Amino acid sequence: MKSFIDYSTAEKIMKEYGSPVFVYSEKILRERCRELMTAFGGKLQPSYSVKANTNLSLLRIIHQEGLKADSMSPGEIYLLEKAGFKPKEIFYISNNVSPEEMQFAINRGILVSVDSLSQLEQYGQINQGGEVAVRFNPGIGAGHNKKVITGGEKTKFGIQAEFWPEVLVLLEKYNLKLVGVNQHIGSLFLEAGPYVEAAENLLNLVEAHFPGVDFVDFGGGFGVPYKEGESRLDFKELTDLISPVLDNFVKNYDNKKVHFKCEPGRYVVAESCSILGKVTSIKENYSQNYVGTDIGFNVIMRPILYDSYHEIKVLGGGISKTVCDGPVNVVGNICESGDILAHDRDIGSVRIGDIIEIMTAGAYVYSMSSNYNCRLKPAEVLIKEDGSIIKIRKQDSFENLLQNFE
Ligand SMILES: *Cc1c(COP(=O)(O)O)cnc(C)c1O
Repeated sequence: MKSFIDYSTAEKIMKEYGSPVFVYSEKILRERCRELMTAFGGKLQPSYSVKANTNLSLLRIIHQEGLKADSMSPGEIYLLEKAGFKPKEIFYISNNVSPEEMQFAINRGILVSVDSLSQLEQYGQINQGGEVAVRFNPGIGAGHNKKVITGGEKTKFGIQAEFWPEVLVLLEKYNLKLVGVNQHIGSLFLEAGPYVEAAENLLNLVEAHFPGVDFVDFGGGFGVPYKEGESRLDFKELTDLISPVLDNFVKNYDNKKVHFKCEPGRYVVAESCSILGKVTSIKENYSQNYVGTDIGFNVIMRPILYDSYHEIKVLGGGISKTVCDGPVNVVGNICESGDILAHDRDIGSVRIGDIIEIMTAGAYVYSMSSNYNCRLKPAEVLIKEDGSIIKIRKQDSFENLLQNFE
């Protein structure tokens, strides 16, 4: 896996912005956006699912590239507005939210998707005669870990397809116009099959029972390779499979202007970022080798939360005489034994003081980071297309830790 950062750039960035630090590539981010805008022969409008990464500077770039946006909370809506997204470009996919949260979106003219009959009832009560979208669960799921499979029979999301008559009753009761139907089967799949099958299921449901909708949204979940040698999701195959399904649907559907959407989060941002950190210690404990770093799970939760794999590169720069070779456990500085970045992995020879790079860290990393152990969240910097380096978020300071106390 090729990195977009060389040693001298890494050293320069860490001198100025500290360690650890998130480094983003504007070039890769824009490439991924463009790839998505032209994938599917332009038949699926991509809406960036912002929970993957909400850095304001990145949101502005994504907006410039023409993606719309999906949000999961009022906070995300607030940030999207600050980044320049217009209400019509924002979709609020709600899950178990209060009437106040729905009202927050309604007041701004942002379309809300509801994902249960009781939430549809709640929405009808506060926005009688309004427009709404409904999230269905097509009975199919996919993803890299059971925590992120969001479709299928064992998840909390969406309305079971068989409950469509109850949906119709509620739409009529509150005079709601159903403008869109959406779903999301899960996160990080690298095979086209389940996505297309779930899309077909949803389209069958819409065709049979919901005439006149403006859009059908098939969700996100497009995976990226995290491991050396893993193959990429084949958008051409996905396009070839889904295209005839869409054409067929339009042929039989009453609203010929119906359009289609997808909701990529990870695919947009994951590969545009690496975390740089430092090796702070090396030790052997009961015949296991540990490489200690300043990258704890306050910085990157994915390994402890999902057992996720991230490539780790040793960029060098260490001056100590302590060298470690062979399989090691790469660990962070948090006081929990689960604070492990990599198990039993051969990362080449390592010295104390070396700069290490955690790759593919743009999605669900900073947005899930925390101040656990009262650690300060790192800075984020962007390598612009012209090669210049700018700060896009400050590192936390001790004042951040005091901020909300009375
Ligand atoms: C998280 C989420 C997405 C994005 O998933 P990715 O795997 O990041 O593409 C899309 N839609 C919904 C409803 C989500 O919750």
